[in-house]
Amino acid sequence: MTSNAQQWIRRESAVARGVASMHQRFAVNANNAEVFDADGNRLIDFAAGLAVCNTGHSHSRIVEAVKTQLDRFSHACFQVTPYESYIELAERLNEIAPGKDQKKSLFVTTGAEAIENAVKIARAYTGRRGVVTFTGGYHGRTMMTLAMTKKVYPYKAGFGPLPSEIHHAAFPFEYHGITQDAAWKSLMEVFFSDIEATETAAIVIEPVLGEGGFYVTPTPFMQKLRSFCDENGILLVIDEIQTGFGRTGKMFAIEHMGVEPDLMTIAKAMAGGFPISGVIGKAEIMDTPAPGGLGGTYGGSPLACVAGLEVLKIIEEENLCKRAIEIGDQIKRPLIEGQQNGMTCIGEVRGLGAMVAVEFVKNGNVDIPLPELTRDIVADAAKEGLLLLSCGIRGNVVRFLPALTASDEIIQEGMDILMKILRRKAEEGAKEFS
Ligand code: PMP
Repeated sequence: MTSNAQQWIRRESAVARGVASMHQRFAVNANNAEVFDADGNRLIDFAAGLAVCNTGHSHSRIVEAVKTQLDRFSHACFQVTPYESYIELAERLNEIAPGKDQKKSLFVTTGAEAIENAVKIARAYTGRRGVVTFTGGYHGRTMMTLAMTKKVYPYKAGFGPLPSEIHHAAFPFEYHGITQDAAWKSLMEVFFSDIEATETAAIVIEPVLGEGGFYVTPTPFMQKLRSFCDENGILLVIDEIQTGFGRTGKMFAIEHMGVEPDLMTIAKAMAGGFPISGVIGKAEIMDTPAPGGLGGTYGGSPLACVAGLEVLKIIEEENLCKRAIEIGDQIKRPLIEGQQNGMTCIGEVRGLGAMVAVEFVKNGNVDIPLPELTRDIVADAAKEGLLLLSCGIRGNVVRFLPALTASDEIIQEGMDILMKILRRKAEEGAKEFS
């Protein structure tokens, strides 16, 4: 086994630098909410493989199900000789997807691919070309999803031209003074200046911005979007790729908002780490593309389908939605106390369930983001055994995405490390702090 440092050197010479890694630590083992690296360090994992391991690393039931499937077959291709686990997963997801309409599902492999398919289906159903997304939104790195993602560096720079017919409206960042009314005006402006509503196939939105910084879409705004889409024959596509599978305290975040999506994209936590993604939608819409128009060689891998079935059972049987709310409260509590007790760099603590973030700004001033401090905190935390992730349109947000199977003790241990770092920064007299 080579050390973290040795592997980093090899990585630098063998792997394209465009594939960035947030930490110079190489995973060797992982169990529930802990990762063990190549130097033998234990890391408390508040990243969960980027919102994937909601059910913890290597949950024994998922491992068992996948091992059993491996002994039967690992790949057959659903478009050649289909298999029952794909159907069963679709049946279960259709049952639990929000809303009363009959649903159908399809499976592909990555989040971006799910979004691509949702756009294809929306265009086929409506016969329209336009797609509208929001500032701060992140939908992936393929060409179409890049065009939908609203951030130049590092995502879009140098990769154009990107597909056309994608338009952006302002997200209601209430913390940044963009009210719901202002965001709505911006959306109406899109239909005034860029594309007719009657030529628009879909509005795509995350119920909680993921990479954008964990801003929750206000419920009235989401409900207004639903009505506007209904009135104008536009499909409302909800991107649940980061928010789904218990993370926010409901199976899907959109359930907090009382809105039924026309199409919903899912990925990440749906199979506890086995690569699979999907689109769930109203059956009539999902059935528009002709046979052969959708799919892909690896889409709905049998290993991921059996893992996905276990994930659904685990979330229900281990009460992980309720647990997400408890974990979220446990994370928020010390941060809010810190803010109240004079940590003026804590601009806002926000989130839904166990999708929590803290935004760092100078002296409580929302207009002065602190990306360097954020980077330092993430780096210091890793040195002290806590894996954190940053995010946010201005790079000044730390996000918390621990496994929903994590114990109170390990969440507390992680938060104690973080709060110790924040206090130390204050004591060191970092200029940003008071
Ligand atoms: N949509 C959202 C909301 C996401 O968070 C992500 C991934 N961070 C994607 C789409 C793209 O998923 P993938 O990286 O699996 O392509």
